[in-house]
Order: sequence, then structure tokens, then C-alpha cells
Amino acid sequence: MSNTGTPRTRTRNAASKKIRKVKGPTEKVVVVGAGLAGLSAALRLAGAGREVTLLEREEVPGGRNGLLQRDGYRFDTGPTVLTMPDLIEDAFNSVGETTKDWLELMPVSPLYRAFYADGSTLDVHADTKQMEDEIARVIGASEAIGYRKYVDFVTKLYKYEMNDFIDRNIDTPFDLLTPNLAKLIAIGGFRRLAPKVAQFLKDPRTQRVYSFQAMYAGVSPQQALAIYAVIAYMDSVAGVFFPKGGMHALPRALAAAAAKHGVTIKYSSKVTRIERQNGRATAAITESGERYPCDVLVLNPDLPVAWRDLLGKTPARVKRLRYSPSAVTLLVGSSKRYEGAAHHNIHFGNSWDGVFEELIDKQSLMSDPSFLVTVPSHDDPDLAPPGKHSYYILFPTPNLDANIDWKVEKKRYRDQILRTIEARGYPGFESAIEVEEVTTPMEWEAMGMERGAPFASAHTFFQTGPFRPRNLARGFDNVVFTGSGTQPGVGVPMVLISGKLAAERII
Ligand SMILES: Cc1cc2nc3c(=O)[nH]c(=O)nc-3n(C[C@H](O)[C@H](O)[C@H](O)COP(=O)(O)OP(=O)(O)OC[C@H]3O[C@@H](n4cnc5c(N)ncnc54)[C@H](O)[C@@H]3O)c2cc1C
Repeated sequence: MSNTGTPRTRTRNAASKKIRKVKGPTEKVVVVGAGLAGLSAALRLAGAGREVTLLEREEVPGGRNGLLQRDGYRFDTGPTVLTMPDLIEDAFNSVGETTKDWLELMPVSPLYRAFYADGSTLDVHADTKQMEDEIARVIGASEAIGYRKYVDFVTKLYKYEMNDFIDRNIDTPFDLLTPNLAKLIAIGGFRRLAPKVAQFLKDPRTQRVYSFQAMYAGVSPQQALAIYAVIAYMDSVAGVFFPKGGMHALPRALAAAAAKHGVTIKYSSKVTRIERQNGRATAAITESGERYPCDVLVLNPDLPVAWRDLLGKTPARVKRLRYSPSAVTLLVGSSKRYEGAAHHNIHFGNSWDGVFEELIDKQSLMSDPSFLVTVPSHDDPDLAPPGKHSYYILFPTPNLDANIDWKVEKKRYRDQILRTIEARGYPGFESAIEVEEVTTPMEWEAMGMERGAPFASAHTFFQTGPFRPRNLARGFDNVVFTGSGTQPGVGVPMVLISGKLAAERII
């Protein structure tokens, strides 16, 4: 069997139920923030005939999906693993456009190259047959059979979760009572992720490569519910893609399509105040004093920051949120190429449970790190000057709840990262550096991410689905949130959906 792509489950069954909407007129919409969520919302609102103005603080769209240009290098600063292209297509379709006219998406193969402490490597493929062969070659035939069963399991998870629990506005926990909930319970979706994965996969190498995705959700595989294995479906089964021109080509393309379809985009327009009258937001005011009146306001800044800085009074539930671990990224322009590296390389240390324990429970830096090295110039040499190479290194770290002074730690940790990667397959890395940029939780916070957590509030059970902050702002008749701080959650696929869910509150 080879994987044939995403099951087409995008019909609306449970989701066609009546949902709560904003009150009053909805003709004139102001969207604050041109992150992927804000862009997704703006496209759908424009497609439905609304008059949309998009106000973005920066000079370019994308937010966390940002761009750094230096000395002929073009670095992506945020997401590098692009999954679920049908959700991008869905956003373009909302204005009658199609992805291929705006973006060249290349499948990444292998999806990941996993490096283990015992010196072995495993290439992860989306094609199930190819992956079975790889697992049989590296580990053994019986593990390949377990992998096949695991793929069946996560494919079912995706089918049962997508319509009823992810791609849907959920107003109360009772909305979850659908036939798919019973199916999820029956297949063990509410057991813990790590033991559930171990039911299919016996080797620690496959267990790690098919459960590390829990980290994206801010929970450990030991603590996460098995329903979170749906993230493993999204990347390791449905495939990973890379846009020609780098990840930032995605927000640029969405913004260009939005502009073509009538969205007025104002860059370098930081909103500093929201005018309010009788429970309605009436206008967004920018730093330079411009006033943009609105019938409805859509807010894409990080949800807790939007409450605090723009809406005035943060609800107690939002104040109590727990945040995901953070990350330090090191972007490097280099004269050196490493033949053994693929586009995405995950380097696992010996420690595994200990990594999550340190990051989440002990709030300390990893003593035996697992990390990601992405080499974007591997698939798009134009991202670096001729003959040069670009590297994106991501080390998970605790968020700013930890007692770490990043002003002091930044340089020390950068040196430690370099020592670690030189020992793990990149000899001579430091001496070949031509350009570099280090981003720590301190900088993420300065960019407007609560607790310096770029992956938003953690997806613990009580911060997921109906328990995640709602997208309708309590106390306002016409304010809607979009982005990773609200439902459904973090990551490129989820925030594209979040833009759609925000628009559905209005249209
Ligand atoms: C280092 C890193 C690695 C990641 N890796 C991956 C990955 O590999 N795969 C994946 O799927 N996801 C990944 N993610 C997560 C993903 O990037 C995010 O979940 C997603 O991009 C968030 O989009 P958003 O629209 O919610 O928020 P943002 O991108 O933060 O958008 C908010 C926008 O609002 C603007 N704004 C804020 N305040 C104001 C204001 N007052 N006035 C006007 N504008 C304002 C900001 O400038 C920004 O453009 C990663 C994130 C980071 C940071």
C-alpha cells in the first residue's frame, strides 16, 4: 500500500450545526495582524464579499513565518516543516484561486533524516511502502509490520478528529458528543501517547520518530493523549513540502492573493488601541494615530497579548494558561556543505523521557539534547549565495517561566549548540560560519509571544478543543481572535484553519 495523500474528510457534518456568531453589522472588517491566521481569515472574508482592511505591524506579512535577509542569504525564521497543503489550497479557493498559480510546492524527500545516539540513521518517507522497506532494512521486518498498523491507526485518528474536533467552531463541550468521539475512544485515542505508540512500534528509534511531534503541541509523549498522534499523521504520513523561495513564500503568496481580491493591506501599521463603545469594538487606532473604523474586529496577535495590550482586561482563565516549551534558533550562512545531511535532520540524544522532563517539569536546558537541523538550500540553492549553504538549527528550551537569564545565557548557549552539532555530524561548522542570527525566548517575547513561547499555550487536555481560549472575545459583540492562541491550536495547518473558523463567526 502506498500512501495516497490526505483522506478527503472535509465535508461538514457535525460542523454544519448552528454556531455562535458576532452580533450586528459585518460589512466592514478590520483584521489586525498578517500572520498566516490573519491572512487566512482575510481571504475568506474577502471571498464572502466583506470590505477587509488588514493592519500589520511589520513591513512584510507572515508573523512567525518570517524572513531574514542578510548578505545574499534568505532565512526563514519560524516554521520549516510545511504539511497539509490541501489547507493552503482551501485558503486560496476561498477567493477562487488555486495554490499552483501562486506557490511552487516541492515534496521534501526524505521528510526527515533521523540520527540516533547509536550511530544509526532512519529516513522517514510519506510513502508507506518505501517507509516499510526502510524500517525493515534498518530495524527489521516485524517492526515494519508494526509501522503499517501504526499508519492505519493515525489515519483513523485524522479521519475521526478533523471534521468534528479540529476544523470546527466548538461552543460547548457538548458539541464534542458525536459518533466520532465514540470511535476515538474505541481505538484508544484517550490513552497516553507513548504506550499507545509502543503498542505498534517496539524499537525506541521508531517510537521516537513517530511521537516527537507531541513536542509541537507542548506536551510530552508520556503525558499527551494518543489523539495527538494526529500530528504524526500530518507530517510523517501525509507528507512534508517546501515552497520554492523558502517558507516565507507562503505568506507572501497569501497576501498577494488577498490584495488581488480587494483586501487593503497596510504594513508598518502597529495597532496600539481599540476604540470601544457599548460592548462593540468600533475602530483600531495605529501607533501613528490613524483610525480604522470597523463593524467587526479580527485579532491575530498572540491571544493573551491581544487581551492585555488591546482589549484592556485579561480574563482570569487566560491568565492561568500554561505555555509550551520555547526554542533557541541559530540561523547560519555557511561555506560548508555536509553530504550526510538531508533537508530536515532530527538528531536524537540518548535521553528521551529525560528531555521532556527537563524542558517541561524541571524547566531546565536539555543536558543531552535532541534537536533539528534544517538545510533549506539543499532543495533551493537560491536561498544562499552561489556555492554557499544555509542552516536552520532549532534547540527546544523551556519558556520564560524558567529561571534562565537569556541576556547572560544567549552567548553561552550559542557556543554550546555549536559544540553539540560539531560532535553530532557537522565537524568544522563554526569556522565555516559567514552569517549568523540567534533567537532566544527573550527575543520571542519581545516580538509579542507570551512567556517567549512561539508555540503558544500548551495543548494539554484542558487547553484543547472547547477548553482552549474561544475565538469569540467575551465581553464584546464583534471581536474574534485568530491564531495559535485560540482554537484549534498551533502550527501552520492549525492556524490556517483558525482563520477559517474566525471568518465563520462573521460570515
Ligand atoms: C521557531 C519556530 C518554528 C516553528 N516551526 C513550525 C513548523 O516547522 N511547522 C509548523 O507547522 N509550525 C511551526 N511553527 C509554528 C507556526 O509558525 C505558528 O503556529 C504560526 O505561524 C502562527 O501563526 P499566527 O497567525 O497564529 O501568529 P503570528 O505569525 O504571530 O501572526 C501574528 C501577526 O500579528 C502581527 N501583530 C502583532 N501585534 C500587532 C499589532 N499590535 N498591530 C499590528 N500587527 C500586529 C504580527 O506582526 C504578526 O504578523 C514554528 C514557529 C516558530 C516561531
